[in-house]
Amino acid sequence: MRDWLKSLGHEYIVTDDKEGPSSEFQKHIKDADVLISTPFHPTYLTKEIMDTAKNLKIAVTAGVGSDHVDLNAANERKITVAEVTGSNVVSVAEHVVMTILTLVRNYQPSHEMITSGNWQVSNVARDCFDLEGKVVGTIGAGRIGYRVLQRLKPFDCKELLYYDYAELPAEANKAVGARRVEDLNEFLSQCDVITVNAPLHEGTRNLINKDTLKHVKKGAWIVNTARGAICNAEDIAAAVQSGQISGYGGDVWNVQPAPKDHPWRDMQGPRGRGNNMTPHMSGTSLDAQARYAAGTKEILDNFFHGKPQTPANVIVENGQYATKAYGQRK
Ligand code: NAP
Repeated sequence: MRDWLKSLGHEYIVTDDKEGPSSEFQKHIKDADVLISTPFHPTYLTKEIMDTAKNLKIAVTAGVGSDHVDLNAANERKITVAEVTGSNVVSVAEHVVMTILTLVRNYQPSHEMITSGNWQVSNVARDCFDLEGKVVGTIGAGRIGYRVLQRLKPFDCKELLYYDYAELPAEANKAVGARRVEDLNEFLSQCDVITVNAPLHEGTRNLINKDTLKHVKKGAWIVNTARGAICNAEDIAAAVQSGQISGYGGDVWNVQPAPKDHPWRDMQGPRGRGNNMTPHMSGTSLDAQARYAAGTKEILDNFFHGKPQTPANVIVENGQYATKAYGQRK
């Protein structure tokens, strides 16, 4: 990126110093025409920061998920927000399947037993199950949610369910054999495993909280690689700790980097089970990085040459939400 931008005569500033008014980010955003950021260690582009960014024309998310940008404020200022749609969907779907398996099979406490020099098989086997025969459901059956369903198909689950605004196209649904449940509480009450694959917007923020958790089957597992704020941090930690749910895993946090005392860092269920959290890394495998770097370059190339962006990549443009309903759902 650096050599390419330099060859076009642009100045390219790279920094991870982002906090506070004297940070490199807040200093340089005042002149920048373009901001590139990732969701993994996000640069929160707030209304207040946009007020100082007089030249900013486009904010590119190198990855998928642009909720770290105040999209309404971007619209008011006619700043384009674009992301590299699809660039890391396989990477995340693989992480979801891994996290489901490690939770259901109680992998983490079993591994820790070995590294701590112990061998009490029954202590870990009592929380270990097969995925076969379980009901697994995804909230959101878009690019990632559908790929999760595809990857789970060979595990002979009892049923695959999805909760989304729309039915999957007939052919796509035939391939995975999933059933749509239209009511969220009904959906939650039928799943042994729930995976969250919807974007964060006003309709999904705090979707899984102490009230909706009442509908979740006792002992279910929840995996969220979409956005941390879709699940209420305190309510999830309490449900894991009490054993109401058998575990929670994923890589996304309501604040990133997560503070040292975030309840998801050290929550544990009975017998040390049920915490499969990682830092936000599922969508930033090296394979994914190559794809979203290429996609970012394409978005910038379109921008420099006044060419239209690939519609699926556009979140907001010309003061309006683009074709995706992102950010507008209630
Ligand atoms: P996508 O293709 O747009 O799919 C999201 C699906 O969720 C769409 O079908 C959408 O419907 C649906 N949806 C929206 N609101 C919903 C709600 N309230 N209830 C049920 N379904 C709802 O997006 P994707 O590529 O699969 O990515 C999903 C999210 O994963 C991203 O927005 C991002 O936040 C997250 N992500 C995380 C990582 C990571 O590294 N952990 C990487 C990539 C993405 P409509 O299209 O009709 O709105």
